[in-house]
Amino acid sequence: MPSINILIVEDELNLLQLTKKYLIRERYQVFTAHNGAEALQIFDNKAIDLIVLDLMLPDISGYEIGRRIRAYSDVPIIMLTARSEVQDKLEGFDSGADDYMTKPFSPKELLARIKVILKRNKKLLATSKYTHGNFEFCTESNSVYIESRPLSLTPGELDLLYYFILNRNITLTREQIIDRIWGFDYDGDIRTVDTRIKRLRRKLRDADINIETVRGIGYRLEEKS
Ligand code: CA
Repeated sequence: MPSINILIVEDELNLLQLTKKYLIRERYQVFTAHNGAEALQIFDNKAIDLIVLDLMLPDISGYEIGRRIRAYSDVPIIMLTARSEVQDKLEGFDSGADDYMTKPFSPKELLARIKVILKRNKKLLATSKYTHGNFEFCTESNSVYIESRPLSLTPGELDLLYYFILNRNITLTREQIIDRIWGFDYDGDIRTVDTRIKRLRRKLRDADINIETVRGIGYRLEEKS
C-alpha cells in the first residue's frame, strides 16, 4: 500500500514544524507549504491524500485555495482558523473544507480528525473488492473482471487502475499519477502517462468504468451509469 501523503499549508513555522513532526511519527508522508502559491504548486505535482490548510496566509487565503482546488478535486481539506467566529466556520465549509479546527489545537486532535476523514474517503481500503456494473477489482487477489471474465493486466496497469479506483470521480493530474505510480525520482517523459493510460483504456473498453481525459489537467475514472 502506498504511503498517505498529507500537505500542510501554514505560515507559522513553529506550528508547521510541530504538526509535521507529529504526523511523520504516525508514518504519514508530509509535504509542507508556507504560502498559497507553494501549496497549489505542490498539490498539482504530488499525489496528496489530504490537506491541512491554514486560513490566514501571506498571499492567497485558505478560502481561495480551497475554492480553487475544489474546482477539480475532492481531496479532503481540514481548515485551520485562528478565529472562532461562526462566519469563518460557515465560509470554511463554503470553500469546500471537510472539517475545520480552531487554533490553538492539539496535534492529537488533528490526528484524530485526519483519521476519521481518511477512513470516510478511502472506503475501498476497508473492503477487498470494488465493483461497478460489470466491472470488478479484487484487491486481495489483484484480479480484475469484466462480465466475470478475467482481464489480463500488467502489474503496472494494476497499480495504475487501483490508484484511479481509490480516487474515482476525482481528476488526477499527470504529475500526481507519475508521483504515485513511479515515485518522485521518475524523470521519464510525461507522455509515458498518456501512453499507459491509452493502453489501459483500450483494455477497459467493455467495462462499466471509463478513464476520461480532462483537458489540460489529466485523467478521471468515471463510473458509467
Ligand atoms: Ca497563518
